[in-house]
Amino acid sequence: MNKNVALVAHDNKKEELCLWAKKHEDKFSKLGIFATGTTGRLLEKRLGRPINRLLSGPLGGDQQIGAKIAEGEIHMLIFFWDPLEPQPHDPDIKALLRIAALWNVPVACNIASADYMIESPLLLDDNYQPTEPDFSIYTNRVTPAEGN
Ligand code: PGA
Repeated sequence: MNKNVALVAHDNKKEELCLWAKKHEDKFSKLGIFATGTTGRLLEKRLGRPINRLLSGPLGGDQQIGAKIAEGEIHMLIFFWDPLEPQPHDPDIKALLRIAALWNVPVACNIASADYMIESPLLLDDNYQPTEPDFSIYTNRVTPAEGN
């Protein structure tokens, strides 16, 4: 199974992410990469390979990644968000982290957690399938509009 990783970094964290991605270039050669617009532009230059670039985060890119997670296209999220600076698109950031938690997609928000994830043997193990959440109780619930 081809796996895809999504990479996102806020401006003060972009250099950190590029250095980290370069360090793990060999692992990334086996993965598809999606990224928000500006992060993707910088990564393309550093890694010298094509990246699936979406819109810039504040322009909807975070939401595009969230939608891909919900559709099962993204298998790991590396999101170096900036804990020291408020962001204009804070609701989108929360939404992205929420949707990743909901769909059981692993998320790393700093170098140490990203190292653990990228080095995990499970990442490229075709026999490992993360538990797919079962939302049937939620989707089949009877809403007040349908009640008697
Ligand atoms: P950017 O978006 O890669 O386009 O800067 C990142 C973000 O803020 O979500």
